[in-house]
Amino acid sequence: MNASYKRYASVLLDLGLKNSFSYGIEEKYLDQLEKGMCVKVPLRGVLQTGIVVEFSSKCPYKKVLPIHSIVSEKTLMTPELFKLAQWVSQYYHTPLARTLKLFFPKSVRKGMGHKKQQVVIRKKSLEELRQICMSVRLKKPKQAALIDELLKVEKEIFLTELTEKAGVSRSVVATLAKQELIELTTTRVDRNPLEKAEYFPSKPKKLNSDQQNAYNQISHSIENTIFQSFLLFGVTGSGKTEVYMQAMESALKQGKKALMLVPEIALTTQTVEKLKSRFKDKIAILHHRLSQGERYDQWHAIRQGLAPIVIGARSAIFAPIDKLGVIIVDEEHELSYKQTDDMPTYNARDVAVVRAKMNNATVVLGSATPSLESFNNVQNGKYKLLELKNRANSQVMPKIEVVDMKREMERSKGFTLFSQKLLSEIEKRFQKGEQSIIFLNRRGYHTSLLCTQCGEVEKCPNCDISLTFHRKNDCLACHLCDYRITPPKICSKCKSATIKFKGFGTENVESQLRKIFPSLRTLRMDADTTKHVGSYEKLYYAFRNHKADLLIGTQMVAKGLHFPSVTLVGILNCDRQFNIPDFKGSEIGFQMVTQVSGRAGRGDIKGSVVIQSFNPENSFLNHAISGDYLAFYNQEIESRKFFNYSPFSHLVKLVFRGKSEGQTLRIAQQFYNKLKMQLARAGEAQAPLPCGYPKIKEYYRFQVLLKGQNIYALIQALQKVEEQVHLPSTVKLLTDVDPSSTFF
Ligand code: ADP
Ligand code: ZN
Ligand code: ZN
Repeated sequence: MNASYKRYASVLLDLGLKNSFSYGIEEKYLDQLEKGMCVKVPLRGVLQTGIVVEFSSKCPYKKVLPIHSIVSEKTLMTPELFKLAQWVSQYYHTPLARTLKLFFPKSVRKGMGHKKQQVVIRKKSLEELRQICMSVRLKKPKQAALIDELLKVEKEIFLTELTEKAGVSRSVVATLAKQELIELTTTRVDRNPLEKAEYFPSKPKKLNSDQQNAYNQISHSIENTIFQSFLLFGVTGSGKTEVYMQAMESALKQGKKALMLVPEIALTTQTVEKLKSRFKDKIAILHHRLSQGERYDQWHAIRQGLAPIVIGARSAIFAPIDKLGVIIVDEEHELSYKQTDDMPTYNARDVAVVRAKMNNATVVLGSATPSLESFNNVQNGKYKLLELKNRANSQVMPKIEVVDMKREMERSKGFTLFSQKLLSEIEKRFQKGEQSIIFLNRRGYHTSLLCTQCGEVEKCPNCDISLTFHRKNDCLACHLCDYRITPPKICSKCKSATIKFKGFGTENVESQLRKIFPSLRTLRMDADTTKHVGSYEKLYYAFRNHKADLLIGTQMVAKGLHFPSVTLVGILNCDRQFNIPDFKGSEIGFQMVTQVSGRAGRGDIKGSVVIQSFNPENSFLNHAISGDYLAFYNQEIESRKFFNYSPFSHLVKLVFRGKSEGQTLRIAQQFYNKLKMQLARAGEAQAPLPCGYPKIKEYYRFQVLLKGQNIYALIQALQKVEEQVHLPSTVKLLTDVDPSSTFF
């Protein structure tokens, strides 16, 4: 077949291939075909579906086959979304084909439709499966991995999805089916993720004057269909959510639609509950726990305009909503909005601003601790500031005290986990029937196993980090790759028996508190206790319904939770937060202390916060304690200016990874040498350094950091160098644009 065509189309196939393929367009399709349409094309004698991404009048290949047929008359992709995809592709330096995948769930790209597929369901209770999973973890890791995935799903999961996620073959599924732990069926169970929950209807609250002012400006902007970015800066508990809800309502009233992004963790209970009570079935929800089938249905519901409000985590920013009136990004400072482990390394908050601009829509970024970048955008006039200065129910902000742990150690003549002050406060709250939260950003029982003879720490063989001891499962576990062993009795290096556990995590805190206060009812919320489906919700409701007096947790308890009867928050070892050698270290520390403290005193009784620190003089800690955001901002912005970090320059972090340490470093070095020359005056490059995690899952990691005023100049230089240096298939390169960390 050698016919030549007037026009050619690049088609991105649904097979998950990286590249797009060229096909000729026959006369009959010339007028019909648009970018973003779904087509059937032949590949090696088989018809495949794909999306048209580009047109051209020439084709580099001699032999070109024609497009077979158009699958959907209506384009899957709107021109608006296509434009957004092109922007993301360019800004985050990622091929368009790869970028486009973000815009469609796999099930939509595959045109899965309502075809029947094999699904797997649990035949045993969650608890039984959890027990089995634990018992086979060390001996049969593949079975454990499969059960792990199965424990994460709501009801059923597609067989293909399950094996892919668990990284196991179908024979493992067959084995478990034979043991009657699971069952394979082909019936499709209902796919509405919200259906089982019940909600009490809620009415809009009467806004206080700060809220009213914020609302007026936002709704005015929506009404006028002009692009405007607002930063809604309101202390914890100031009623930002109420403003968001009324803003979305105002968009709806004007026949427009609303999109709200929330951090993944908030999607599980509270926020969804609130929104659902207000908007009922007008909402579509997108999150990572949806099965492929659910995602397919939600996506099409949104595409067809059945749900005028969409709420979701990071990737929901690419939802196919038309007539966008307002985009809301709650907790805009959250780093979880940034994709860091895959390209494009987009930040959903930044994409939200761009998308709003393309649509003449209004964007509202909300936070009690705005990111430095966003507040800087207020200072330079790009964003309009809306402030909520007080808590909504006129509760006062909690009283914060710092305990100097150096003195505490002197007094107790040795190491102590809890200060006298914290213990006495916990006891007081317990006596009064009030609740407390204890925060510690480490999970597990002990954080390492150390040999006192030779100094060796037991490390993961796949990753370059120490193994954490988990008492419940009696194992040493790697928090990066989940490698597990039974703790050795002797040092693996010098064979001496003088090995000792060091450091403490949440599991340890819980057991010590139970010893000190035998009748205190505690709950623990961390990655270990919330791994499986429903477990987070269970803990959340148990604590909210006062089934426990004290909640111990990692950053999971720091964010957004609203428990009115919590009057005490304790922060153990907050110094770790401030000591991460990263350009955002101080910012993250400040945010963390402010957010955790904000969990206290949200009801009628005034709350208090006890912070344990070995460095109580730390100025950022003190800004957080006095609730002085401006002081924090002014100090931090000076330091960013001095080191020429964001927002004063753009950063691009190149992460090279490979199984050979030498080869990976060599490639990084070659890139660095060429980049230096290519950049010339457009920016600077830093010599290759091992990443903060220098080895993960057997891959060595090196980074090269680029810095410059103009992001496109940096990317252009990189592109040139990529054309010059051959990247072997054994070394992978990830380009992180505007990285949220220069360390990890
Ligand atoms: P934020 O999101 O700023 O942390 P929330 O939206 O969770 O704060 O609000 C804190 C509490 O104040 C919630 O219980 C909310 O229902 C209540 N609230 C918000 N606005 C008002 C209002 N105008 N009048 C009375 N209560 C309000
Ligand atoms: Zn040793
Ligand atoms: Zn590991």
